[in-house]
Amino acid sequence: MKLWEKNIRRVVPYVPGEQPDKPHMIKLNTNENPYPPAPGVAESLYAFDTDRLRLYPDASAGVLVRALAKRYRVQEDQVFVGVGSDDVLAMSFMTFFNSDKPILFPDVTYSFYDVWAEVFRIPYERVPLDGQFCICKEGYYKENGGVIFPNPNAPTGELESLDDIEDILRHNEDVIVIVDEAYIDFGGETALPLLDKYDNLLIVQTFSKSRSLAGMRIGYAFGSRELIGYLNDVKYSFNSYTMDHLALAAGVAALEDEAYFQETIHKIVSTRERVKAELQTLGFTCGDSQANFLFAAHKGLPAKKLFEALKEANIYVRYFQKPRIDNYLRITVGTDDEMDVLLDFLRGYLKQEGV
Ligand code: PMP
Repeated sequence: MKLWEKNIRRVVPYVPGEQPDKPHMIKLNTNENPYPPAPGVAESLYAFDTDRLRLYPDASAGVLVRALAKRYRVQEDQVFVGVGSDDVLAMSFMTFFNSDKPILFPDVTYSFYDVWAEVFRIPYERVPLDGQFCICKEGYYKENGGVIFPNPNAPTGELESLDDIEDILRHNEDVIVIVDEAYIDFGGETALPLLDKYDNLLIVQTFSKSRSLAGMRIGYAFGSRELIGYLNDVKYSFNSYTMDHLALAAGVAALEDEAYFQETIHKIVSTRERVKAELQTLGFTCGDSQANFLFAAHKGLPAKKLFEALKEANIYVRYFQKPRIDNYLRITVGTDDEMDVLLDFLRGYLKQEGV
């Protein structure tokens, strides 16, 4: 080892799902929305005056903060925005998790949490999910330096009730509790009503899933004025101009079209329920996902084998070679046509394998 190497901050990075760009592929591996963004998004981008790109964007992302505050009925100083919710979450780890005690998150969860904990040198402890992959609220009663979990959880899709979330908050009034609601619009109940009661609650959401804007990178958080103030202090200590002009315009346009938002969600939820029933008839077990993906295991074939066979057929799903979940596939809900190709392939493949 060279001497300078010992001063380097070394980390094992998060590995995002593949982004292959093959003709005729069916891409169900990164929980993107199969439908285009609201039509107003394209209009706002075409109407954008590129001369404005000479100028720095508004560092406070004012137009988007105001639009979010209006849509979600909170005060403007209760809103923070960032470059996708990954950026918002990374800033939140840095801002709020600064204790010698371990932060707590589920053993099966979004695999970026331990990466951020490692990069910021935050001690952490994984709290096991129960046998049905649900969060055990009692696991979060112990002393800790902060709490974070997604609701619905990823990659399982399991939803916790607002009562259970409030119970976790009640037991953790001295630390920051972050609820990552990346998938909340697909059937869950947001923790927003708890915001007035708990000034230590931060709720993080994204435009990447339910608003079809994964490629634009827009995430946001709601919290008490104090929490948002601390988050902004850290953000302004890193990079003032996180949100570019185009992202601000696209985000505002997406929020303006509530009818399109509801219609897209409705389509994804009904496709999810249909595909879930069909997968069950093919011998898969699926939990009760309330997200835009299904988490499925087959009774007769290992997930890894299925994953590879699907990939060979140009159908990309996500497989995690991790404890407890290495026999599951996470399948993003695509269009009905895409899901029919998946189901047809599985029917044929399972028959050929004799299971
Ligand atoms: N939280 C969870 C639970 C996720 O699955 C994802 C998607 N990878 C994110 C946050 C981040 O999404 P984005 O940065 O696109 O908003």
